[in-house]
Parts: sequence; C-alpha cells; structure tokens
Amino acid sequence: MARVPQDGNLLGLDQEELEALAVSCGQPRYRGRQIYHGLYVRRVRDFAGFTDLHREFRDELASRHGILYPQAEREFASRDGAVRYLFRLEDGNRVETVYMPEEARTTLCLSSQVGCALDCRFCFTALLGTKRNLTAGEIVGQVLAACAGHNVARGARLNLVFMGMGEPLLNLPPVLKAVGILADPKGGGIPPRRITVSTVGIVPRIEELGQAPMRPKLAISLNASHDEQRSALMPINRKYPLADLLRVCRAYPLRPWERLTFEYVMLDGVNDSDADAQRVASLLRDLRAKINLIPYNRGPQLPYRAPRLERVMAFQEVLTQSGIPTFIRISRGQDIRAACGQLSLDIGPSGDREIG
Ligand code: SAH
Repeated sequence: MARVPQDGNLLGLDQEELEALAVSCGQPRYRGRQIYHGLYVRRVRDFAGFTDLHREFRDELASRHGILYPQAEREFASRDGAVRYLFRLEDGNRVETVYMPEEARTTLCLSSQVGCALDCRFCFTALLGTKRNLTAGEIVGQVLAACAGHNVARGARLNLVFMGMGEPLLNLPPVLKAVGILADPKGGGIPPRRITVSTVGIVPRIEELGQAPMRPKLAISLNASHDEQRSALMPINRKYPLADLLRVCRAYPLRPWERLTFEYVMLDGVNDSDADAQRVASLLRDLRAKINLIPYNRGPQLPYRAPRLERVMAFQEVLTQSGIPTFIRISRGQDIRAACGQLSLDIGPSGDREIG
C-alpha cells in the first residue's frame, strides 16, 4: 500500500510514493510520475488540473486524497516589500511563512514546527511552546502557496531558509523529505545550495544531516561567545555545549563551495562586547565559516534591545580582522513582526497594512 499521510494530502509525497499510489489504484507506475510532475512542476491545485490523467483515475484520486495548500488566513505587507503569511493548516494549527522579494531573487522563510520547544530567551516563537511537527506536505505547501500568491514561477531565482518557527533539526525526516522534493530538478527545481536549514545546534542531528544525500546548507545560531552566556540565552546549550557543537562543525563534510554560516543575534550589553567578538573569533578560527550578525528585533514582553549600529560595526570589525567574513543582517519586515525571532502568530500591532 502507498504511504499516504492521515490527512490524505498528496503534497509531500515523493515520486516513489506516488508511483506506489498509482499502482495501488491499479494504474501503471508512470501515472505516479505524472502526478509528481503535476504537483511540483505544473503546480496544479485541483484534480481537474491533471489533464494528462484519465477522468476515472482523477475522480478516484479526488475521492480519497487532497492537494492541501495551507490556507492564507492573514497576510501582512511590510513597507519593505516583505509579506508575512499566517497559514492555517488542516487541523486548525497555524504557522507563519515570510516572503521577501529582492531585486535579483526572492527568499522564503519557512517554518518547520508549530511553535518551538527550545525556549531561547530572546525569541518570540519560544513563547508559544511547541505544539507539533509539520509534515513534509505542510512544508512543501508553504513554498507552493507563497509562490502562487506572488506569481513566483518555477525556475525563478528563489532561496529557501528554514528560519521561521520551530527547530528544523528536531523534525529532520520531514524537513529532508520536503527538501528532496523541492530540490529535485524533476520536482520543485530549487537547487540545494539555495536552501538553508538553521539550527540551535542539535549535535547528533547535525551529524545526521551531514550524511544526507540531498542536503541543504547549514546555519548555526551561535548567539554567544562562551558556555555560561550561551546557556543563559539558549537552554539547549546545557545539553549540547559549545565544545560538542564545534566538534561536529569541524567534522562536518562541507562541499567544496560551501561554508558554515553562524548567526549571532546581537543583544545590547549582553553579548556584544569586543571581548565577545574576540572569543567568537577564536571559537570559529579553524572553521570554514561566515558570520551573520543580526541586531535584535524587539517585541513586547522581552527585555532585550539591539546595540547601537556603531557597536555592531565594531563587533564586525574584530571578526573581519581575524579573517572571518562577517555580515550585518538587518531583518526584513520589522514593521509587520515578520523579522527574525518575531514569528509568534501575532496578528500584528495596529498600523500594519493588512492585505487579504
Ligand atoms: N530554531 C532555528 C530556526 C529559527 S532561525 C534556530 O534557532 O536556528 C531564527 C533565527 O533568528 C535564529 O538565528 C535566532 O537566533 C534568531 N532570532 C531569534 N529571535 C530573534 C530576535 N528577536 N531578533 C533577532 N534574531 C532573532
């Protein structure tokens, strides 16, 4: 029997599973490949769109399955062009996806879980706690729905980052399955080097990711320069302290073109001193790495603030001087609570331009 998830969603099934599904309906295997092509290349949204399947088979599929795009319940448009989607899933849970157009490319920030269990002190998603993992279909669905919403054609230059809600490495099999479908030239057609998974540093899962056949790039949320500081900000550091994290990073099988990315949320007076920068430089000294400095995005309830820009630039200078390429990333969509760490199913402060 074909393994179709409980919700009957065809999205998230790979080619082999769709072939098995076709066979289980008494059809030849290649019918499964036609469904695969229809779902991920032609991106049909209802069974009538499968014009290359005969009528009876289409009806049979429709009677048992769905093509379940997450439903855009709200869309918030930023002045900078970013759009935050509040997607409703089949079971009523909600997740957020951020669409960020730039001149030469578009980036989608995807969620991997409903909420998050990790309790990082500065992150608003953490306030939700965790509810459940997303299925591969719900992950692929975020991409297809956001692309459909903005007429992003297949083949357009698109980057995917798993930097929305949740910890992707705590939901690794569905994340990798979705990446496999999205990256497949016969599927989503988004090259794996344009897909990045970001983690707090789940050590055994990093090792597992390194062995995956179709693997995205890896980013690690470092956010601190020593264990005491990191454990205070990110409780997961007690389980996987810096020495363990950096050991798996050193052993990580980087491809020739690849670097590890380290994200560093900058918190005023907490982790932003020159001494912090020097410690970060020595932690990463023997790695092929780059650093993204993310000035803190504020919100209600949490006490942190971003440092002044001069402080961020001085911090950057220390790292650059020690030979590590370091970039300052000003988050998009701050006015619509779509910026890094702000995803919390919030319906947005008044004054948001809400569309849809
Ligand atoms: N759980 C994964 C994926 C989320 S990525 C991870 O932690 O890597 C979200 C990124 O935004 C992480 O680097 C996180 O450290 C950062 N972040 C969280 N809250 C933030 C905030 N309020 N301002 C800026 N960055 C934040």
